[in-house]
Amino acid sequence: MHDFLCPKCYEYLRVGDNIIFKVKNSKKQSALLLLSPQIGNYTSHKHHSFEIKSGEYLEFYCPLCNASLISDIHKNLAHVIMLDETGESHNVFFSQIVGEHSTFETDGESVHIAGENAGRYTYFKIGDKFRKYF
Ligand SMILES: [Zn+2]
Repeated sequence: MHDFLCPKCYEYLRVGDNIIFKVKNSKKQSALLLLSPQIGNYTSHKHHSFEIKSGEYLEFYCPLCNASLISDIHKNLAHVIMLDETGESHNVFFSQIVGEHSTFETDGESVHIAGENAGRYTYFKIGDKFRKYF
């Protein structure tokens, strides 16, 4: 299974079958949110007392160094690093909007897209390049 790292502190965010994030909802309440390490699987787990609504903007943070994971390509997308079986690193971007299914994975050469809402982010910047998809 792929490992996921924080892009700021490079510590491991995946434990078992979950990637662990700290999130803040629009009421500025914090909680832990567990996401699947499988790209395109939008199953999530949280404590029942933490309320999130569909369409709500969540802020994702590294639970280890507390850095914001907001990406520099779009404020709606969070950024983590994925390591594949060969130790090669990929950038993974996913939507911070509850219920919005958009994930982008890139090794710097090509971009893989998952989620039925990915078309909302048709412009995609890789390194210094600005590329259009679709
Ligand atoms: Zn970190």
